[in-house]
Order: sequence, then C-alpha cells, then structure tokens
Amino acid sequence: MAPRAPQVQEEAGYPRHPPRMGFFTDTSVCIGCKACEVACKEWNRLPADGPFELTGMSFDNTTQLSASTWRHVAFIEQRKPVRAPGGPAGDQQDLRWLMASDVCKHCTDAACLNVCPTGSLFRTEFGTVVVQDDVCNGCGYCVSACPYGVIDKREDDGRVFKCTLCYDRIGDGLIPACAKACPTESIQYGPLDELLERAEARLADLHGDGVPDARLYGNDPADGVRGNGAFFLLLDEPEVYGLPPAPRDATRDLPAMWAHAAVAAVTLVCGIAVAFAGSRRAG
Ligand code: SF4
Ligand code: SF4
Repeated sequence: MAPRAPQVQEEAGYPRHPPRMGFFTDTSVCIGCKACEVACKEWNRLPADGPFELTGMSFDNTTQLSASTWRHVAFIEQRKPVRAPGGPAGDQQDLRWLMASDVCKHCTDAACLNVCPTGSLFRTEFGTVVVQDDVCNGCGYCVSACPYGVIDKREDDGRVFKCTLCYDRIGDGLIPACAKACPTESIQYGPLDELLERAEARLADLHGDGVPDARLYGNDPADGVRGNGAFFLLLDEPEVYGLPPAPRDATRDLPAMWAHAAVAAVTLVCGIAVAFAGSRRAG
C-alpha cells in the first residue's frame, strides 16, 4: 500500500521535512582567495583573531579553525611530481599549492553534541549541528570530544563557537555566506544526496583527467562518525591537509565501556560476598 501519511500532510499544506543539507568543498578548484573566510566573518559578525602576524605558513595567517574563524583556507606548498588536471602526460610540475577551505563537518555522529550536558548543541531540521550560545555554560566537554578539533572556546567570553552552516540564512531559503561568496564554486551547498552525486561525478572526471590521487573525504557512512554533512574532494592524503585519516566519535565506545564496568562491579560484589560467607563459616 502507498505511504499515505506524507501525502495527506502535503495536501493539508504542512511543510515537508527538509532533506539533510550540507557542504561539498571541491578543493581542486579552490584559488585561495579567502572570500569564504571573509564572508563568514562578515555575516556572522565574528571578531578578529588577534593582532595580525605573519605565520610563515605560506599565505595562511589564521592557521586553523577557531571560535572566531569558522572557515579556514589552508595553503599547503608541496614539492611533488604531479601532472596538472587535463595536462599532457609527461608534463610534470614539481611544486604545487594545495588550497582547501576547512569547516565544521556537521557529523552524523556528532561527539560535540553527544557530550554537551546543557543541550546547547543540537541537531537542526536540516541535519546540521548548531550551538545555542545563550545555553552554553563553557564547560568545554565538546572541545575535547570533537575528533576534528573544530569547536573552540572564546577565552574572553567563556563560551564555545563554531560554524552553524548559516542556520539563520538557510532557514530563509538563502545559501550559506561562504558558498555564496566563493567565485569558483569550490564550496557547494545543497541536499546532501545531490552533493554526493555531484562529487562522485567530479571525482570520476579528475581520475579520467589523470589525477589518480583525487579522493573524497567525509562521505563514508561506515566511518567512525557515520559520515559528515560537510565533505571534501582532496588531491592528496587527508593528513596533508591536517585532517584525521580515521576520525571517530569516542562516545560510541561508552555503552561497551559501561557494560565492562558493570561486569567488573558485579564480579567484585560477588567475590566480596563469597569471601564474607567463607569467613563466617570458618568462624
Ligand atoms: S566536526 Fe566537531 S564540532 Fe563539528 S559536528 Fe563534528 S564533532 Fe561537532
Ligand atoms: S572563496 Fe572559494 S576559491 Fe576562494 S578561498 Fe574560499 S573556497 Fe577557495
């Protein structure tokens, strides 16, 4: 029988539950302009990261995601024999820049959300993970739980902050500020299923163009966080970009740990009871 309930709801004018939305960041077309960083800062009114300093890390002067930097464009200078996408065989360069705009991964199993004792972190109707700053008590459990080192505490404020995937914009049908500003469509926003299809097609094109190291990252529902709402096309190993090769939501191990602790406690109580009974008989 056809599933009637959703049809009845649509006919009655109820909004359909939105699909899971996300980001696909195709680093192969990033030009390192940092428009995404700036647009994010501007829309979300994020404070400066402190006095401007040259870090010596190529053109990267924020170096990482933080409570005040929710998009971070990494510049990785690499000496490695590579062929330009689509370039003729044998036409190899040995110096290249990898540029990649990093962001919160909006994990399917989000450790930050799982450990938050106040409910400040929550899953939105779009499948994204958002912090309610007026509920955060600054305990910092989420900071140590995040397997990507994304969520961060603003020390002069005491609370944690991170990318909201522009919850205030997407709720009004707008696209996130970073994706809107990106001139090369390196950052794409949309229903996760569609983005995954697009990413697979782009990956096949790159492999066909002789870029065998191209790979998707964060799209695997069988990984340690059951996949991400923000995934990437990378041109090298994730470690090269400072991304963990096998991220894991450590809270997934908690049920097994509690089960082991319960078995140990029961064994201990039984042992004490047996010893006590034995000593009474001997007396
Ligand atoms: S990347 Fe970190 S902060 Fe973002 S949803 Fe996953 S666990 Fe939370
Ligand atoms: S706006 Fe687009 S092209 Fe520019 S740095 Fe960000 S991701 Fe790269």
